Amino acid sequence: MKSVLQITRLLNNGVKIPMMGLGTWQMSDEEATVAVRQALELGYRLIDTAAFYNCEKGVGQGIRDSGISREKIFVTTKVWATDLYENRVEEAYEESLQRLGLDYVDLLILHWPVNYINGWKIMERIYRQGRVRAIGISNFRIKQLLKLFDALEVVPAVIQLELNPLVTNFEIRSFCEAKGIAVTAWQSLGSGSTGEVLNNEVIVGLAKKYGKTPAQIALRWAFQNNIITIPKTVTPKRMMENADILDFELTEEDMEWIGNIKQLPRYDTEIRDVPIRITEMVKRGVRFVEKGYKGNLTRDFYD
Ligand code: NDP
Repeated sequence: MKSVLQITRLLNNGVKIPMMGLGTWQMSDEEATVAVRQALELGYRLIDTAAFYNCEKGVGQGIRDSGISREKIFVTTKVWATDLYENRVEEAYEESLQRLGLDYVDLLILHWPVNYINGWKIMERIYRQGRVRAIGISNFRIKQLLKLFDALEVVPAVIQLELNPLVTNFEIRSFCEAKGIAVTAWQSLGSGSTGEVLNNEVIVGLAKKYGKTPAQIALRWAFQNNIITIPKTVTPKRMMENADILDFELTEEDMEWIGNIKQLPRYDTEIRDVPIRITEMVKRGVRFVEKGYKGNLTRDFYD
């Protein structure tokens, strides 16, 4: 049977992206080296990283260790908020390539909507020069997307959003799909550790009904919504588990049930303490994740 790892989706510029890949946030270089190689050996062909995750070196090493040819792998990295703030997109991309040991990435993402019109212009130039196969955005709200649409020449191929059954982001997701922007979920498992998604009673109930795990239910829900997922794990058993979602289908009733789960606040716009820390980091010129960092930017940052 075909695996979800082999299923691709066509982006608005004709480039194909796998429907599931491996996330690397909170991996060290050493962990990323091993996890990326293992994931590639298990059939993963999409690896999601970012300058901010501070593990691009490990990701690049894992890719080389796998022995799989570069053009068979879809690599995503991101330009961090500090580099956007300082108009360093070009330099940031070159630095990412150097750390990765690659001469291009498949998808370059504008990590947060900070100084984003200028940032996008530079990303468009990099794209037009053929130095990246696709460009995308992350954590935008509709208001920011509308501003971007007034200024852009290249429509983003992808948007990354916090997305899982407890944060469905339905409005922005529908807006993006209507504009031809493919949606990728981050925290498709609710980041595992907090347990809110994987312990949710509806998700657990459906897991029992289908003899699958809660993670597989969350990932299948995303798949049935045409959402690309990049679950992060350093455990090969979980890499296999996460990809094993094609032998069952959630019914319309199941999907409706999930649709009725009480929603959590969206991390980037509705949780208030972390953004101030991030703002300070950006102003101090911090480019990499700090130990113990657990959050994202919020509303205050954009206004
Ligand atoms: P995920 O929802 O992917 O959860 C990852 C956590 O879940 C880890 O602690 C992992 O532990 C655990 N886990 C993985 N598989 C299973 C399983 N089958 N059962 C139980 N637990 C499991 O959260 P992330 O925040 O990592 O998001 C995914 C990726 O999205 C990131 O790694 C990153 O690449 C990207 N991202 C993008 C953002 C953006 O702003 N654009 C923001 C945040 C993330 P273990 O590793 O120990 O198995």
